[in-house]
Amino acid sequence: MKTRPDFKYLVASALLGFILGAFVVASLGNPRALRQRAPNVSVRVAPHDAAMALDDPGSPVIEAATAPTTGRGGDPTIAADSGSLKARGLEMPVKDVPRSALVESFHEVRSGNREHEAIDILAPRNTPVVAIDEGTIAKLFVSKAGGNTIYQFDPSEQYAYYYAHLERYADGLKEGDKIHKRQVIGFVGTSGNAPKDTPHLHFAVFRLTAARHWWEGTPIDPYDLLR
Ligand SMILES: [Zn+2]
Repeated sequence: MKTRPDFKYLVASALLGFILGAFVVASLGNPRALRQRAPNVSVRVAPHDAAMALDDPGSPVIEAATAPTTGRGGDPTIAADSGSLKARGLEMPVKDVPRSALVESFHEVRSGNREHEAIDILAPRNTPVVAIDEGTIAKLFVSKAGGNTIYQFDPSEQYAYYYAHLERYADGLKEGDKIHKRQVIGFVGTSGNAPKDTPHLHFAVFRLTAARHWWEGTPIDPYDLLR
């Protein structure tokens, strides 16, 4: 009769283990759900691992945008977005950096096997960062990976522009501010996970969803818009 309770205990333990295991597997198997639950928390916090992979800010933008990437290269909607945005005559986001200096890195794979979905523009520390378009400061957000970041909405609130690794914001800049194209909004730096000896602007553009959340959208290659 002694073996009876032991057996029950084993069965109960096995059941509990199975349930916990299933829960863990379900959680891991749905990283998108995890990201959506904590949009402000970077899932791309692993540091860069090569000189060319300058950073991996893991912006909420990129997290939220990872899901609908399938077939993006041939997505006619994105192509249309690029066309209409380019037609606005967007400014270069870093003062005195010529368009010819831009290097394509949108599809570079960074940590976590995710695409960069942005462009990195190298410039000396404290070089002014300017708004590439008219619009509104939607969010000033400090994240572990992106450092001091700015989310700007364009005037139509269809698109967001994301500026990361800033040394600092322009004096007095605050959320809700209406800003003009070429207005200085911050300064190039290495905040977040940027290499301390390689100041640069991590810059991304994305099409907002109908909800117009500053952290959520579909990425558009800035290189196509700015070159
Ligand atoms: Zn970057």
